[in-house]
Amino acid sequence: MFLSRDLAMEIAEKYSTPCYVYDEASLERQARAALAFPNVFGLTVRYAMKAASNAAILKIFNSLGIQIDASSSHEAKRAMRAGIPPEHISLSSQQAPENLDELIALGVKYNACSLFQLENFGKCAPGESVGVRINPGLGSGGTNRTNVGGPASSFGIWHEYIDKAKDIAKKYSLKIVRIHTHIGSGSDPLVWQKVAEMSLDTVERFPDVEILDMGGGYKVGRVEGEISTDLQKIGEPVAALVKKFAERTGRKLHFEIEPGTFLLANCAVVLSKVADVCDTGPLGYKFIKTDSGMTDILRPSLYGAQHPIAILPREGCENREYGEYVVCGHCCESGDILTPAPADPEGLSPRRLVRPEIGDFCIIGGAGAYCSSMSCSNYNSYPASPEVLIRKDGSLKLIRRRQTPEQVSENEIPL
Ligand SMILES: *Cc1c(COP(=O)(O)O)cnc(C)c1O
Repeated sequence: MFLSRDLAMEIAEKYSTPCYVYDEASLERQARAALAFPNVFGLTVRYAMKAASNAAILKIFNSLGIQIDASSSHEAKRAMRAGIPPEHISLSSQQAPENLDELIALGVKYNACSLFQLENFGKCAPGESVGVRINPGLGSGGTNRTNVGGPASSFGIWHEYIDKAKDIAKKYSLKIVRIHTHIGSGSDPLVWQKVAEMSLDTVERFPDVEILDMGGGYKVGRVEGEISTDLQKIGEPVAALVKKFAERTGRKLHFEIEPGTFLLANCAVVLSKVADVCDTGPLGYKFIKTDSGMTDILRPSLYGAQHPIAILPREGCENREYGEYVVCGHCCESGDILTPAPADPEGLSPRRLVRPEIGDFCIIGGAGAYCSSMSCSNYNSYPASPEVLIRKDGSLKLIRRRQTPEQVSENEIPL
C-alpha cells in the first residue's frame, strides 16, 4: 500500500482517524489506462461518479480528459457544482428526474433507461437527440456478476421492446444517437466479446446511432486471488468487432466506457486505529475493534466484499507474532464486520495479522470505490470521515473535512 508509517502518523496527527486517504498518482495511472482502451473511431471515457463523488476527484479525472457518468440528477448537479461542464455529463438513471428539461437545456446528455423515461424525455425535448439504455438479455452462463444484464435486472429497456422504443422516438421526432449497455461484465474477454456482438446487433436496428457506450463493470482485484481486468485484453476483440461493423455497414461508431471501480478501487485506503482487542475464549475468536467500520466501508457488511487489512504497529514494536483475527467496526451492530467470509456477509473469516495493540494503525485498503460514497455515515451518530489526497509531489491536501456533531443533527427540528 502507498501509505508509509511516517505519512500515516502525519495524517492521523493532522486530521485524526478514521480518514480516507487517496493517492493522486494512482488515480492518474488508472485514468491513463482507461484512456488507452482499444478503439477504432474514437473513445470517450466517463467516470461513473457514484463510485466516489468528491469534487476534487471529479476535477482530477476531468482535467485528464475523462467525462462524467451520473446516476441521478443529484449527481449531475453535484458534478456541475464541482465545475464539470454540463456537456461533459451523461445521465443514466433508475428514475426519471423531475428537472430533466433544465438539465437538457444546460447541455447534459441523457440516456433513457426505460420506455417511460424515453416518453418523458420526448415530452421535455421533442425533436432532440437522445441515448437509450438497452438490457441485451445476456445470461451467458457466468456468475451472478456477469448476469446483471439478464431478465433479473431492472436496468434498461428489455431488448424485445426495441420496437416500442422506436415508436416512442417517432412520436416525439427523437433521434436515437447512442446505445448504452452497462451489464457489469467482469474481466472475461469472451463475455465482453459476446456483449459487444449483442450491442452491435442492437445498434444495427437504430440507423441514427453514432455512439456505442458499453458502461463499466471492469473488475479490480483488491485481495490476493481476485482477478483484475486487463483493459487491453478485453478491449481488443471489441475494437475488432467495431471495425468489422464499419466495414460491413459503413458506420464508424464512437466508443464510450464508464468505469467506476477500475478508476479508483485500489487508489485509496481508510486509515483507522485499533480501538480495542478482545476474544471469546480458546474455542472462540480473537477480535480487533477499529475506530472505523460500516460508517466508512459498507461493502463487506453488504456483500461480503474483501478488503486488504494491515496492522501497522507503532515504531519499535515490529517483531510481534502473527495471529488469526476477526476485524470489526465500531457500530453497535453485529453485522459491522470488516472480515466477512467472501461473498457471505453473515460468515466470519479471520485474517492472519500482526498481533495488535490498542492505538496501532489499522489500514483498510481497496477503499477508493463505493466506500466514501456508499457508507452508512451517521449511524450511531458517527460523523462522516474526512477525505485526504496525497498529491503527486507527496504533499497532503484535505479534500473533505470531518463532519461536525452539529452537522449530523442540523436538519432536525426540535419540539
Ligand atoms: C455504476 C455504473 C457504472 C460503473 O460501474 P463499475 O462497476 O464501478 O465500473 C457505469 N455505468 C453505469 C450506468 C453505472 O450505473
